[in-house]
Amino acid sequence: MTFSANDIGWPDVLMDILKTKDPAVVDALTSDEREKLIRENPVTVMRHIDRRFQALLDYILNGSSRPLGRVIHHFCRAEYQMRGSVHYHCLFWIDDPPNFEDLDNVEALVSFIDHHITVRIPAKDEDSHLHALTNSLQHHACTFTCQRGVGKVCRFHFPHAPSASTLLNQPASKKDSRFYVLQRAADEVRMNPYNPSLLKMWGANMDIQVVRSVT
Ligand SMILES: [Zn+2]
Repeated sequence: MTFSANDIGWPDVLMDILKTKDPAVVDALTSDEREKLIRENPVTVMRHIDRRFQALLDYILNGSSRPLGRVIHHFCRAEYQMRGSVHYHCLFWIDDPPNFEDLDNVEALVSFIDHHITVRIPAKDEDSHLHALTNSLQHHACTFTCQRGVGKVCRFHFPHAPSASTLLNQPASKKDSRFYVLQRAADEVRMNPYNPSLLKMWGANMDIQVVRSVT
């Protein structure tokens, strides 16, 4: 799983920098003003991001709703890119997962994937919060960072083909993560996979996939 920061979009960070309890003050800021405040207050911003991530991790590991099931082991690493913003890469080992080598049990494997991962954009009247989050945070727009090499093909394979349901693929190797195709409507071909509960908790771009083996 990957969690990116949304420092210019998280109002609590900017409210703290501006020493205000009024969200309207932050709402009135332009993008340039937000970016300037973030650039000029790296320590405050990083403390906010780290605390938010620790709360997310606590929710995943100890939350009563167990959004990923019972986690028996985890590994997380913070990475800093050139622009200075942090993002987190994590692996979570889930207790008693279905056996992904057992392709006779396709229904259970697909059910496990669909239970934890989706690219769905819910309708506004179904879940307005998630509708806004998916539209603003989970859309993959290709840039020079993902279109490298000959042919400029996206290294994350966007846009993905629509699919009426989640399907299992015959992977090229045991480490090939593309052993499944997510259910995806025509207007979701550029959506990054997410977990609804975690996207709502984190409030910034995330990516999630099932990994069968890390060896
Ligand atoms: Zn791309």
